[in-house]
Amino acid sequence: MSKNVAIVVGHHKFSKGAKSQWLPSEWDLMSEVAKSLCDVADIFYHDPKIGGYTSRQRAMAKRTRLHKYVFELHYNAASPIANGCEALYYFSNKGGYKIATKFCELVSESMEIKNRKAKPMLNSTQRGYAFVYQTNGTAIILEPFFGTSGSDVAKFDKAKYVQVLRTLIKGL
Ligand SMILES: [Zn+2]
Repeated sequence: MSKNVAIVVGHHKFSKGAKSQWLPSEWDLMSEVAKSLCDVADIFYHDPKIGGYTSRQRAMAKRTRLHKYVFELHYNAASPIANGCEALYYFSNKGGYKIATKFCELVSESMEIKNRKAKPMLNSTQRGYAFVYQTNGTAIILEPFFGTSGSDVAKFDKAKYVQVLRTLIKGL
């Protein structure tokens, strides 16, 4: 039976996204997180055979078209001083803004990671735009921490993060 919530692991198995010197890649770590949530969400992985980010997202949007909420799991990467959690939503989706805001609060409360707040996706020059734009349901990109921040990585706890996502899903 199809569930209300789809969880998409960001990137794909041949291009695993950001790497951290302290953690597995985005794809490896978030695959583990996703597996822990298979009782409350349907889990999806991008097809690496589809070339190009926008085409992959279009194919994914078809697969998740019946889900009311679609969350894509990532972690952030930037210079070592950047830190905190954020969540990205399609700018005109008020429900998306609420969920993104709640996500940041939960991560921040649970692990004391700085709350960088919900961020609107406004146009196609922004990374991740195709995901929030093409998805039929409410689509949110979840970035709980920076893998490039030693202090964020020290605060991040996989089990706590799974719990945060369970609480978020329960509240929908
Ligand atoms: Zn990513």
